[in-house]
This record gives sequence, C-alpha cells and structure tokens, in this order.
Amino acid sequence: MKKIIIAIDGYSSCGKSSFAKAIAARLGYLFIDSGAMYRAVTLFARQQGLIENGRVKERELAARLNEIDLSFRYNPETRKSDIWLNGADVEKQIRSMEVSRDVSAVSAVGAVRDFLVARQQQMGRDKGVVMDGRDIGTVVFPDAELKLFMTAAPEVRAERRYKELQAQGAAVRFEDILNNIEERDRLDTERAVGPLRQAEDAVLLDNSDMTIPEQMEWVMKLIEERTRPDKPL
Ligand code: C5P
Repeated sequence: MKKIIIAIDGYSSCGKSSFAKAIAARLGYLFIDSGAMYRAVTLFARQQGLIENGRVKERELAARLNEIDLSFRYNPETRKSDIWLNGADVEKQIRSMEVSRDVSAVSAVGAVRDFLVARQQQMGRDKGVVMDGRDIGTVVFPDAELKLFMTAAPEVRAERRYKELQAQGAAVRFEDILNNIEERDRLDTERAVGPLRQAEDAVLLDNSDMTIPEQMEWVMKLIEERTRPDKPL
C-alpha cells in the first residue's frame, strides 16, 4: 500500500493524539505528537528561567534553541513513545498544568515555530507518518495526502482531559481545565505565526458524540481512498 502523510489538526484536547496514535498503530506508521515538542520547549524555557509571569523572554529563548535536544523514544513499560529533552524522559512533566498554561505563549514565538517545523518536516521525509498539532496541514505538510480537522464541544473536551489527569493522580479542578482549554484555543487561533485554522482541503471531524472505534471506521474509508494505487502521487 502506498505510504502517505496524515495531518491531524484541531482544537485542544479533542482526542487528536489518541486518534492519531490509533491510526498509526493500525497502519504501522510513525506517530508524532507535535504538541509534545512545543510542550518540551516550554519546559526548557521554564527550567532556564526564560518565562516570567507567563511572559516569554523571546530573544533569549530564540538564542538558546540550539541547546535543545528533542527525541521520541519507546517506553517498554507504557508501550508508548515518550518525549525526551536533553537526556531526560519528560513525558509526564510536559503534561502539567504549569506547562499547559505557558505553552501557547511559547508556541507563538516565530523562532520556536521555525525550529520545530523544520524538525517535523525532517521526521516526515519518508512518509508513513501520522502527525497531530495545530498547523500540520497548513504549514508543516501542506501537501499531505490526508488532512483532518478535529473539533468537539469545549465541555466534552474538558471532561476527557479531566478524567485523563485524574487517572494519573493529578489534583485538578474541572473549571481550571475548561478555562485552560478555552484560553489555549483563543491564543492558538489568534496568533500571527502558524495560527490554528482548518486547511481548505481538510476533512472536518466533530467527535463530540463519537467513540474511537466509530472514528476509526470513518477514517479508514478515507485512508483507503487516499492510498489507492491508481491515485496519482
Ligand atoms: O497538542 P497539545 O494540546 O499538547 O499542544 C499544546 C500546545 O502546543 C497547543 O495549545 C499549542 O499552543 C501548541 N502547538 C502548536 N502547534 C502545534 C502543536 C501544538 O502551536 N503543531
């Protein structure tokens, strides 16, 4: 079967990563969570004192991006791939509320986007990749063979995220999560560089009332269509 690039964009916490992961497992493709990369850069900026009261020291951060070494490595315990930052597994740390609070400000910095977009494009060089994020179908892979744009009602998204964090033992409040999701959507949509928007040729998926198996059945039809050998490359 012809290998393609599947780009999944959409609002915060609407299940993009879980869905992308499931598609990648089904097809034997590489799954890349681009949000984890923005979160890891945010963690680096926090560790280095480059964020003060939610304000990013843009010039300093831009000058120090060359100190950041990012990679995804398989974790045999969870059977998932974790993100590593400068020699440490930071998968858990990057999901904290503190990082969630600062990540939209960091991802609005042009130099950060240039740095990560170049890496993401490199990762997709050989196709056979499912990548999720905000600008994958518009900026990272504008020629992706299949683009999805995902959304769901904010309350449904906050509820899912709440359960996920609770299951990890984090003490979180539903209202804080809902506020964070709505604020990130606003910042991600309004930023000047790589804003969140649906690519013209992306297929819309509102999964408010859909289970993962239902979404899977829906997307497999699209994938079969886009990977058909008679379809020109
Ligand atoms: O996907 P996730 O919610 O973990 O992403 C965290 C944040 O990273 C988003 O709110 C957004 O600000 C940023 N992001 C981005 N571009 C991407 C992926 C994520 O700006 N491609």
